[in-house]
Amino acid sequence: MFTRIDHVGIAVASIDDELPAWQERFGMAPSHRETVEEQGVEAVLFDVGENHVELIAPLGPETGVARFIESRGPGLHHVAYQVQDIDAVLAQLQEAGVQMIDTEPRTGIRNSRVAFIHPKSAGGVLTEIVQPAEGSH
Ligand code: ZN
Repeated sequence: MFTRIDHVGIAVASIDDELPAWQERFGMAPSHRETVEEQGVEAVLFDVGENHVELIAPLGPETGVARFIESRGPGLHHVAYQVQDIDAVLAQLQEAGVQMIDTEPRTGIRNSRVAFIHPKSAGGVLTEIVQPAEGSH
């Protein structure tokens, strides 16, 4: 069902404030930066081997990520698994009674198709499934 870990999402208050530290401490250069209006976030990707770390910062105080930071502070926000056919996986998950936040895929970073699984069904961790756009990994 899941082919690999696609990325780990880390919530930060501000990309601009956080980015230099990641570059200086870990020598990581961002491979992609994008505003994803639909999810209310600005996101930056770092490549780590074939996988990624995704920093996400809220676009405004009413967004889910802003509420997350307000209640829990910055930190690990979600784990994302890659899938090949998100429609098939969504159907399988729903049939298995998994509690979904999204029952339909939405558009994620780099034109991927994504859906979120409720933490209640994934060990208390917000979980994302990602079908990358053709040609990206
Ligand atoms: Zn993500």
